[in-house]
Amino acid sequence: MTVHFIGAGPGAADLITVRGRDLVASSPVCLYAGSLVPAEMLAWCPPGARLVDTARMTLDEIVAELCAAHAAGEDVARLHSGDPSLYSALAEQLRRLDEAGVPCQVTPGVPAFAAAAAALRQELTIPGIAQSVILTRTSVVSSPMPPGEDLTTLSASRATLVLHLAVHRIEEVVRELTPRYGPTCPAAVVAWASRDRETVLRGTLADIAGRSRAAGLTRTAVIIVGRALAAGDFQDSFLYSKGRFAPDNGQPAPASGWSSVPPEAVPRGSPGGPVPPGRSAPSAPRRILLLGGSGEARQLATELAADSRYEVLYSLAGRVRDPRVPSSCRVRIGGFGGPDGLAALLRAERIDLVVDATHPFAARMQASAATAAAAVALPLVVLRRPGWHEGPGDDWRRVPTMVAAVELLEGFAPGGARSETAPRVFLTTGRGDLGLFAPLARPWFLIRCVDPPEGPLPPRHTVLLDRGPFDVDAERTLLRSHAIDVVVTKDSGGPMTAAKLTAARELGLPVVLVDRPAPSPGADLTASVEEALTRINEQNMAAPSTGL
Ligand code: NAP
Repeated sequence: MTVHFIGAGPGAADLITVRGRDLVASSPVCLYAGSLVPAEMLAWCPPGARLVDTARMTLDEIVAELCAAHAAGEDVARLHSGDPSLYSALAEQLRRLDEAGVPCQVTPGVPAFAAAAAALRQELTIPGIAQSVILTRTSVVSSPMPPGEDLTTLSASRATLVLHLAVHRIEEVVRELTPRYGPTCPAAVVAWASRDRETVLRGTLADIAGRSRAAGLTRTAVIIVGRALAAGDFQDSFLYSKGRFAPDNGQPAPASGWSSVPPEAVPRGSPGGPVPPGRSAPSAPRRILLLGGSGEARQLATELAADSRYEVLYSLAGRVRDPRVPSSCRVRIGGFGGPDGLAALLRAERIDLVVDATHPFAARMQASAATAAAAVALPLVVLRRPGWHEGPGDDWRRVPTMVAAVELLEGFAPGGARSETAPRVFLTTGRGDLGLFAPLARPWFLIRCVDPPEGPLPPRHTVLLDRGPFDVDAERTLLRSHAIDVVVTKDSGGPMTAAKLTAARELGLPVVLVDRPAPSPGADLTASVEEALTRINEQNMAAPSTGL
């Protein structure tokens, strides 16, 4: 009988081949690595099949199982994650089975790097940019790299480089690749490709290690490095070019179909116009880049991801160590490298619509989104929750900037201008601006933020790590127990963190409120998730024929 080595694919159960699934379904014995092969696949085994988890078995024990099945006249489905041609220990099993005279066949599977490229929506071989892909890994004690296969040597080609089993040593990878590829070379990490927890990070060699660490990625990830990852400006391949189909080539030119017109040259919504290379077909879901960083962005992502008309790429800056991300859509983490980088991503990901649902104070990202969307001629919907409004009993001191808040605190005297007492300040401006308060030696600060602050802090302080939503009772208790004199906050708006304002009013405390930056000129502003959804649907209706 036969031992079938079957590539089980990268993790999603439906990414095994039809042949692989049929072999699993017809083999009375199945050997699989329990930690990597999806459990759903085992349900395809025939009733009464013997299932053997090889995760803790030695090679001798595995081969003994395979030989025993052969002796009993039973076919075996031997499942390997990914594709058996890469890092699977196929060679040593085949060698022993060949010696034992056991017939073997190999059925390929989807390798992790292919699933990672799919998650990135990325061709790894871009005409004129990169036509070779190097698949490699880093050295470990059990499997040192052979001479000549170190990263410094491999990087001489500057081909697209894919590293399996290396994310735990990403700093080392970056160090070895940077001299040849350069710090601005695009790099990506894709973890758990094709699985529910799929995580996609894009960046450059300069920042990908930090982003990967911040996202907590230590295993089951693929690193991809190379200029192909951000190539927006390249020639179409010859494969579908007009020249190839010209009559004097002996082949008819197609009546319609893809053209070599760059996407930005095709007016959006032009009926009957050509669908540019790689653009969505008319019925394909619209691709939305959703810039997150607010609670509303999360809600919106969840709503959009549940709507089959849309495919969402949810983007976060990576500031928060353990971000709350919607489980239902693709996530990327890290900056784009300014408006140009964002524009390149919009093209590379073939985005149809940009939604800016960042925090009201994320001014740089907002400006960058407006510039990049305009450059690629994409519609931009902005979701900005309204600011807070002062009510009866409130004692608010509005200031235009964070620097003005610092200046106000410098002269702040609790209980009146002549008071000598140092003020006790509840500072909830987020950790990004804390350095501005560092020179203030007199006040004592209760600093509340989500992640531990980095950089200079005022000398007298206590840090409280917490994340909203907060309720009024708890906020009142907090203000009282720390004998707070003044609350300092941004005008972030929304209910998640508004309880401190109510508590301050009840306790008769002043609040220093920093005004939000002005919206980008001409921004198409919406104020709620519902309104943003309506606007997105309107944009969708307005551009039915070209994938927006
Ligand atoms: P910022 O000053 O406007 O952004 C700084 C840079 O971070 C941007 O230029 C961009 O890098 C990157 N970035 C920001 N948002 C991004 C996103 N959604 N996806 C990918 N890259 C992003 O923003 P910030 O004040 O540092 O805030 C960073 C993130 O935290 C924002 O997403 C914001 O929504 C969220 N947030 C901010 C506050 C706040 O008070 N500022 C509060 C809560 C949450 P590149 O230039 O390289 O593209």
